[in-house]
Amino acid sequence: MAVIGIMSAMHEELAAVLAAMPDEQRVRVAERDFWVGHWHGHDVVAVLSRIGKVAAATTATVLLERFKVDALVFTGAAGGLAPHAQVGDVVVATGLVQHDMDASPLFPQYEVPLYGRARFDTDPALSQALAAAASQVLSDPAQHLGAQAIADFHLLSPRVHQGLIVSGDRFVSTTAESQALQHSLPDALAVEMEGAAVAQVCLDYGVPFAAVRTISDRADDDAHTDFNRFIREVASRYSLAILSQWLMHR
Ligand code: SAH
Repeated sequence: MAVIGIMSAMHEELAAVLAAMPDEQRVRVAERDFWVGHWHGHDVVAVLSRIGKVAAATTATVLLERFKVDALVFTGAAGGLAPHAQVGDVVVATGLVQHDMDASPLFPQYEVPLYGRARFDTDPALSQALAAAASQVLSDPAQHLGAQAIADFHLLSPRVHQGLIVSGDRFVSTTAESQALQHSLPDALAVEMEGAAVAQVCLDYGVPFAAVRTISDRADDDAHTDFNRFIREVASRYSLAILSQWLMHR
């Protein structure tokens, strides 16, 4: 049976996934805890991604090499770049770019040397299935979130977007940097710190990859004050519900 790798960016997200797995066993590799078990009848290995491109690439490599996962899904939060990617929306990546990769003039800006590309595409079928699950979950936020969180974060009609996510080793929290990214990568919907690195590793191994991110902030000067509360009360609940919905129907 296919083994599914789940990489969670946040402790709270992983905790929610582990609470849903009935029988997980811990296997420690490379200072990381990999949780091997089942969810909705599927073989699953869940792990905290860790933050930043190198840490996430190492985690992905262990999942692929040691645990032989046949598909890898990443969930986490991201900063919204496109004006319509609002806090509480979910972005399912169709492709990812490392926004801090620049080996120019030897290679075009953003191109990863020796790969002949800047953009790493996600698996279309896997991404489509996750987008469908996300649409289902977001159609009724009240089923997954508390009333206070919905009110405080203005989550009355959250939306699912599909498109480009950009990754780099920087938490983007100034309007100037957000605008610079929007200017140089106009298709980018959201920015985070791991996805494009994991997509690159999955390309190397020929394993399907998908990334689902809840917009937690607008990557600008007034990145909302309560990031941790948002992760706890919104993003981790969405991740759990989306993964659960997807695995139940897979
Ligand atoms: N308090 C958190 C820190 C998270 S760092 C903790 O201790 O775990 C930010 C994480 O959210 C990264 O994994 C990154 O991928 C994502 N992220 C959310 N908003 C972002 C932004 N504006 N810029 C870059 N990454 C962002």
